[in-house]
Amino acid sequence: MGSSPRTLQAIVGAPGVRGKKVAALSKDGLTAFIQSIVSTKQEMKEPFYVLDLGVVMALFDKWARNLPMAQPFYAVKCNPNPALLGALATLGSGFDCASKAEIESVLSLGVSPGRIIFANPCKAESHIKYAATVGVNLTTFDSKEELEKIKKWHPKCALLIRVKAPDDGGARCPLGPKYGALPEEVTPLLQAAQTARLTVTGVSFHIGSGAMQFRAYREAIAAAKTVFETAARLGMPKMHVLNIGGGFTAGPQFAEAASTVKAALQAYFPNEPSLTVIAEPGRFFAESAFTLATNIIGKRVRGDLREYWINDGIYGSMNCILYDHAVVTCMPLARASSPRCKGARTYDSTVFGPTCDALDTVLKGYPLPELQVNDWLVFPNMGAYTAAAGSNFNGFNTSAILTYLAYSNPN
Ligand code: PLP
Repeated sequence: MGSSPRTLQAIVGAPGVRGKKVAALSKDGLTAFIQSIVSTKQEMKEPFYVLDLGVVMALFDKWARNLPMAQPFYAVKCNPNPALLGALATLGSGFDCASKAEIESVLSLGVSPGRIIFANPCKAESHIKYAATVGVNLTTFDSKEELEKIKKWHPKCALLIRVKAPDDGGARCPLGPKYGALPEEVTPLLQAAQTARLTVTGVSFHIGSGAMQFRAYREAIAAAKTVFETAARLGMPKMHVLNIGGGFTAGPQFAEAASTVKAALQAYFPNEPSLTVIAEPGRFFAESAFTLATNIIGKRVRGDLREYWINDGIYGSMNCILYDHAVVTCMPLARASSPRCKGARTYDSTVFGPTCDALDTVLKGYPLPELQVNDWLVFPNMGAYTAAAGSNFNGFNTSAILTYLAYSNPN
């Protein structure tokens, strides 16, 4: 589906998205929209997210233009926000779910189970049983023990063998240390599946989240080709699914990642019309679509140093600093419009989160103008691995953070 006004209408009316306020952004964009939320809800000082549906639509188009041969299965773990899931479902995305709860939330949007891959190589038996009940019939594995569980609870499930991708040494979050069959484990695993009469339809890998060295895609696709050949040698039915995982970011480097993938597919899987290529992008769709607005709840002045406390932090949305190795940025909401901020002197500032732990420090030595309690700080690009992993520590409830929907022109 393209990014037409009709698509937007469909997205806004979709399950998960329905009922939320959607405002088209004026030429002043997101800042004006956030300002309107803050000023119409004067009493509201809680942090909130803005999800820009126009950005999601533009990213979906960008994916389709650059990687038309790879059907995206959005990785729900990255950000399970129902409006984002609903928008992606309307645009035609599939979904990578890692648990029963993620499958439930995708099915509740009316997505058919055939559009879901249970892409967790190590699943609880109860979750496998649930997948069988609801008809989610594609999953990954990388051990004999997983094959035994699948044989017991979901023997009709099609399987992708997850292989350890050659490390992208530069990835923000490498996944290789935890998942993926080693080259010497592939043959015994395929034989075990054969003996158990389970159907292995293809290969899956993930080069690491926030990947930087795109040749890792080429090396992983080459490794996958070897696994296809091994399966053929063992007399297994012809493999026909290649899952290239996630690792993509939406910036200018996406074109380079996509052309590396395309060239590698051409080199290792030429003339294979029966091959289905899928991918599991998370960060690509979620990161830049969400902006977080936080309120300054405290301040301390120490000489030239300014220290601020905001009402979200390391135990909430900014857990991405610890777990996702993110570097966050912010700007005062008033910056664009207020004479107080325009061209004003900046101070080295520390921004603390609200909990009583000193670890809860979001920014240090960050240049900010003089700000006051009740001012707002706005953090862009806060959609990936943020609210999804936030806690309720000290009574600050990440899951209670509201999301407002906006729509910028995607073209
Ligand atoms: N697929 C799997 C199996 C993952 O573990 C992850 C992230 O951990 C993803 C997809 C999403 O990766 P990314 O956000 O880098 O696209």
